[in-house]
Amino acid sequence: MLGLMQDVPLLVSGLLRHAATNFPTREIIARLHDGRIHRTDYRRVERRACRLATALAKLGIGPGDRVGTLAWNTHRHLEAFFGVPGMGAVLHTVNPRLFREQIQYIIAHAEDRVLLADVDLLPIVEALLPQLPSVECVVALCERAELPPSTLPLVAYEDLLATGTEDYAWPLLDERLACGLCYTSGTTGNPKGVLYSHRSNVLHALGTNQPGMVDIHAEDVVMPVVPMFHANAWGFPHTCTLAGAKQVLPGNRLDPASLLELIHAEGVTVSGGVPTVITALADHLVKTGQSAAPLRRVLVGGSALAPALQDTLRERHGITAVHAWGMTEISPIGTLSTLTAAAQTLPPADQRELLRKQGREVFGVEMKIVDSTGKVAPKDGLTFGPLLVRGPWVAARYFRDEGGDVLDAEGWFNTGDVATWDEHGFMKITDRTKDVIKSGGEWISSIDLENVLLEHPKVARAAAVGAFHPKWDERPVVVVVPTPGEPPTVEELLAFLAPKVAKWWLPDAIVFVDELPLNATGKVQKSVLRERYWQHLQGQPG
Ligand code: AMP
Repeated sequence: MLGLMQDVPLLVSGLLRHAATNFPTREIIARLHDGRIHRTDYRRVERRACRLATALAKLGIGPGDRVGTLAWNTHRHLEAFFGVPGMGAVLHTVNPRLFREQIQYIIAHAEDRVLLADVDLLPIVEALLPQLPSVECVVALCERAELPPSTLPLVAYEDLLATGTEDYAWPLLDERLACGLCYTSGTTGNPKGVLYSHRSNVLHALGTNQPGMVDIHAEDVVMPVVPMFHANAWGFPHTCTLAGAKQVLPGNRLDPASLLELIHAEGVTVSGGVPTVITALADHLVKTGQSAAPLRRVLVGGSALAPALQDTLRERHGITAVHAWGMTEISPIGTLSTLTAAAQTLPPADQRELLRKQGREVFGVEMKIVDSTGKVAPKDGLTFGPLLVRGPWVAARYFRDEGGDVLDAEGWFNTGDVATWDEHGFMKITDRTKDVIKSGGEWISSIDLENVLLEHPKVARAAAVGAFHPKWDERPVVVVVPTPGEPPTVEELLAFLAPKVAKWWLPDAIVFVDELPLNATGKVQKSVLRERYWQHLQGQPG
């Protein structure tokens, strides 16, 4: 017998309609490309999203058409987050930090018909447009007076909006329709498109924004530092809108001084970003002696949050760093490190240990770790194995990919991460499958090695990779960026590591460098380091 309830589709336009109705004057603040601060609210964002939707329709954009963005976090990008899918088209967020060839590949593969680009990112479009036959119209996210000289026939966004109308009712689309498209930053091969649906994005917002999880409230002032072009912006545009939180969008100025200025001026209470950005902010606070109040909580994900950083934020700045794990294919949030009621009764040291892990399932994502034989790994916090997930906001296949379904027979998606899980259900990533250091048939966790070294005061950044070894196949080499001041010695760091890791985990070499190579989403490029140091141990006594 079927239930007898209404089958109303879950649509992202419904999130904005809700905010505009219930929190019409709640503010959206954006830093524009020239540094000015722009202030708007949910009511105006919805009106302008309606204008965008109707203006795009006049340009001939219809259901399923892709509209690309090359843009920072601003109110205009937020309008596109709702206006484009709200009318049935697909919002394709392009990461401007990718190599030009990748950007060209992505836009051509997606067949974007319209591109919305921030003024400072127009040179990328200018350089690539001759190789982008699908693009019919380039819209600069500015007013007409701000249009820069360009070889492109540009339309100013504000002129485009003037051709639309606010008198528009969001259509009742099928909730399974495509809503957003985001390509993975894949280190090998071509980027792959993850095609979110209205249903998956709304469920992701509802499922992740539970009390004790992402937990954004109407009273919060949220500054998403994670860019809107990275992994669905961790769902922030949707969760903040669902909650009616004030949003502070930092534009293209992601340096710590600019972020801190916004935190103070706008009263930011919650933020989210990758460890490199949050580390830079913490360093800046120490250097300048400033406080980050009223900031009290940051979501950190994208790569492992070093326990040392989590401690510094809590002890010196009163900020709780919540570890979030996920990936573009999971919309992106899969787990968060917050304590359950049972875990809150554990001794403080055990609680801290749990909070250092990548966390427990959010409702909607089921995870499983398997051992080398494919059997479910024991929840002992020790056994490593591939991490699999499934749920209504996990990708089933990639956009226009010959490979077809990427799930196994039971619907599990292999994340490519290697992890442990414990009796409390907390998962801990030990590595990407391809970054694991395989020494004599045993696995060494590069993340664990890095995290211990990051507790040393003379270590600012650390990356461990496997280097070729004739006897053990691979042995760890650690690449360290020292903190300013007196540099550490190899002996000093080995002595620091020795009591904290198994003897056979101790690196065979530690090298010092000025910086680590980062990819377009702020992750250390382990593949580059692996290649660079692969022969490093040749000739060393084994
Ligand atoms: P992306 O799709 O670019 O967001 O990359 C997803 C990958 O980033 C995951 O498969 C993990 O390897 C890594 N990642 C994301 N969040 C975390 C985290 N909190 N800790 C460790 N690795 C993470």
